[in-house]
Amino acid sequence: MSRPRILIVGAGFAGYRTARTLARLTRHRADITLLNPTDYFLYLPLLPQVATGILEPRRVAVSLPGTLRRVRLVLGEADGVDLDARTVHYTDPEGRGGTLGYDRLVLAVGSVNKLLPIPGVPEHAHGFRGMPEALYLRDHVTRQMELAAAADDPESCSARCTFVVVGAGYTGTEVAAQGKLFTDALVRKQPPRTGIRPHWMLLDIAPRVLPEMDERLSRTADRVLRRRGVDVRMGTSVKEATHDGVLLSDGEFVGTRTLVWCVGVRPDPLVEGLDRPLERGRLLVDPHLQVPGHPEVFACGDVAAVPDLEKPGQYTSMTAQHAWRQGKVCARNVAASLGIGTPRSYRHRDLGFVVDLGGAQAAADPLGVPLAGPLAAAVARGYHLAALPGNRVRVAADWLLDAVLPRQAVQLGLVRSWSVPLESASPELARVPGAPDTSATEKDS
Ligand SMILES: Cc1cc2nc3c(=O)[nH]c(=O)nc-3n(C[C@H](O)[C@H](O)[C@H](O)COP(=O)(O)OP(=O)(O)OC[C@H]3O[C@@H](n4cnc5c(N)ncnc54)[C@H](O)[C@@H]3O)c2cc1C
Repeated sequence: MSRPRILIVGAGFAGYRTARTLARLTRHRADITLLNPTDYFLYLPLLPQVATGILEPRRVAVSLPGTLRRVRLVLGEADGVDLDARTVHYTDPEGRGGTLGYDRLVLAVGSVNKLLPIPGVPEHAHGFRGMPEALYLRDHVTRQMELAAAADDPESCSARCTFVVVGAGYTGTEVAAQGKLFTDALVRKQPPRTGIRPHWMLLDIAPRVLPEMDERLSRTADRVLRRRGVDVRMGTSVKEATHDGVLLSDGEFVGTRTLVWCVGVRPDPLVEGLDRPLERGRLLVDPHLQVPGHPEVFACGDVAAVPDLEKPGQYTSMTAQHAWRQGKVCARNVAASLGIGTPRSYRHRDLGFVVDLGGAQAAADPLGVPLAGPLAAAVARGYHLAALPGNRVRVAADWLLDAVLPRQAVQLGLVRSWSVPLESASPELARVPGAPDTSATEKDS
């Protein structure tokens, strides 16, 4: 008899955990295929540390072939699912199409940058959702500081030294907090001739930073940011973006060459084409993570609207914590549907959050206990080390080196502005047809 074919689409927190758990549960009783654009699992919570020179990029990229035994990796991006024919169509990194059949399907494609209809933002802002964007930002910030150091014109120098981050969720807050430390370190080595200093702004229409988290975490983060010199402006957003700067909602124009867009995410649009019920763009599933009417199809992570059994009437939030735990339950239920074990409902209470603000500062509330300062920073780093499914020694070594050595700030120039467009659903595969070869001259420098 042929073995059942399990196809997992997406190797993020949810898909990676599903694949790893299924490989263990099924042994050789099923064929497990993982479809993902890259050959690595990206540990997103540490991406701000890649962008600000603390971690080398490969530290947060855990090899899929190297860590997932008994799982076949197919490199590609799904672009269509045929629920009747039980097939998924995909495009591989070289642009060739392919089709994969399945007996069980797990959709775990995560989310993409959320765009708001604000003039100039798609052209002039950059998102922060993938490795290319983190590498681009690291180079871009370094380049702005180097150009500012040599500039004689105060206006241009000030624009290069001004970095605007929109969105004060955990991503924007960490980028601004750690970015300020990064540019302060750069400026100590090579101060601008004009005497102008780096100016980081963090904007959000919400009344407080970390608006979706406990107020005590908000207060800690706000205090650290302001003490560090970050210009925190809540209740403020961007009305228009241009090449020279941004017009704020209060009418002020801020000259800048850097607009980092961290306003949040929306579910990956792949599920819109399924013709199944959605909840704010997320594919509706039952507490067993199965799509109603299609018991052979499962979904988990950011892309799935999973009923929150701890908060009746609500759906689980889009966090790594939920995605990781849903992956495990999803694997058990897929295995159960093949006669291995018994199914269970997804139920999980938040264990708290950690927000690493760089240096010896963090805000954390493990098990609801609010922590700040070096203790919170130790908890945050310990948590990340425990949660990383690989590369732990390398990450710890980078942290150690960062504590005793100056940051390495050199531009590698491997990622160009046009190859990380804000609207890109999957930055890893981003290709803009007909994009100019800017390898010699960077467009926005
Ligand atoms: C910078 C950043 C920092 C964050 N920090 C935190 C944090 O500190 N704490 C926290 O709880 N959450 C954090 N989050 C949110 C958290 O990372 C997400 O909730 C989590 O990644 C969701 O897991 P997922 O598996 O659903 O999606 P993802 O982890 O995004 O994985 C989706 C996978 O699917 C792949 N994929 C996408 N489309 C396709 C396709 N069409 N075909 C095939 N594969 C596809 C992607 O390449 C990716 O590998 C952060 C997010 C970001 C961007």
